Amino acid sequence: DTSGLEDAAAELVTKDIDVLRVGYADLIGSERGRDVLVNRFARTVSSGVAFCRSVYGTTPMGDVVEIEGGIEAGLPDVLAFPDISTVQRVPWEPGVAHVIADMFNADGTPSEESPRAVLKRVIERFAELGMRPIVGPELEFYVMQRTTANPTGWERYGEATGNVYVAGLKGDPENVLIRTLRHLSAYGLEVVAANHEFSSGQFEINLWHSEALDAADRAFRFKTAIQELARAEDKLATFMAKPFNDEGGSGFHIHFSTADDAGDPLFDDPSGPDGLSKVARHAIAGILAHAPALAAVCNPTINSYKRFGPNTLAPWLIDWGLDNRSAMVRVPPERGKASRLELRLGDASANPYLAIAGLLAAAYLGIRDELEPPAALEGYGYDPSKAEMLPGDLATALAAFEADDAFGEILGPQFGRTFLTYKRNELERFNHWVTDWEFREYAYHL
Ligand code: GLU
Ligand code: MG
Ligand code: MG
Repeated sequence: DTSGLEDAAAELVTKDIDVLRVGYADLIGSERGRDVLVNRFARTVSSGVAFCRSVYGTTPMGDVVEIEGGIEAGLPDVLAFPDISTVQRVPWEPGVAHVIADMFNADGTPSEESPRAVLKRVIERFAELGMRPIVGPELEFYVMQRTTANPTGWERYGEATGNVYVAGLKGDPENVLIRTLRHLSAYGLEVVAANHEFSSGQFEINLWHSEALDAADRAFRFKTAIQELARAEDKLATFMAKPFNDEGGSGFHIHFSTADDAGDPLFDDPSGPDGLSKVARHAIAGILAHAPALAAVCNPTINSYKRFGPNTLAPWLIDWGLDNRSAMVRVPPERGKASRLELRLGDASANPYLAIAGLLAAAYLGIRDELEPPAALEGYGYDPSKAEMLPGDLATALAAFEADDAFGEILGPQFGRTFLTYKRNELERFNHWVTDWEFREYAYHL
């Protein structure tokens, strides 16, 4: 409907916007897009902004993996159609607004691999049950500053000391965090709070909860914004899961509940065990039952599995607990409208759309199949005699993902195949790469 686009463009002009950045998430959640001049916008966008389908197979180093319907099909188009309801002025780029696009194939069908489409499909399953998933994302990340002291050219920003929950210049000597927080707020991301994390140079920012698609859109935008704003400060922000051997990883904690069609909360039940409803218990059970497959989308890199472990505050075992930060699923102490669970499985490198879609898919299966969770964890939860372990590496998680037909069916079979192809290519490349660890371990004594 081109008239809607013309109206939207005209309105942007009145707000002094001359460039619309049309963005979307690729398979690994990094943003791809194009800057479209607003005076060309209605015409450019009425037939979609065209990209090569290889965008779903492009690695961070720019190589193209042979995904289904990609190279063998002659690298056809995928078309981006902006979701006008998502237009937001970019506060730190005068004249620029950002819009999130939905992706379609040239024949007009939705692109199966589009992470936003994957999430929409799962939300649709909840709608069939008369339920609306609500999500609150929390992302941790590291900020780095330039150095000549090591070959990467980057070192952790700030002072290398225990600054957890320290606010102000002690943990953030150049006030990067506070500037970032204000920009994010003006960008409509509904940020709530920012804090220094356990490790030096590591920060966390919490986003307010909302309906799952909006929350995923905000988490996706958040990650790009953090990277952009760091660059503007001559810093590097990374959401890599575990960038340093001697410091903790970065989590992507996802708070989750469901409401009914009227918006009333479905996880609360004062008469239920622990004050939780049946729906909440089934959701927890579904997440535990599908956790090995879920790890593939919540912990999607080779590096992700180095974050897991005992005594990390990241999970290691497939368990749940009441206000217990050592568990994979934590049920925060609030009840009533705030009854919710916190999935602590994901790391910050996850594609927000896919991690949230995966969480929802697992919870949906638990609700649909009326699964019952095991007993809640008591105490500090890193005793491997008490629960199953999470996959120890990406290959194991991908095998679990491939084997979990119910889970794969909810996310979409074609998405699943493309995801596996892409991720197995990543493993293959890694397995043939000689690392610095191997040199240190073997070169001198063997
Ligand atoms: N950094 C931890 C993780 O990887 C979480 C620490 C926290 O609870 O804030 O999940
Ligand atoms: Mg944290
Ligand atoms: Mg948390």
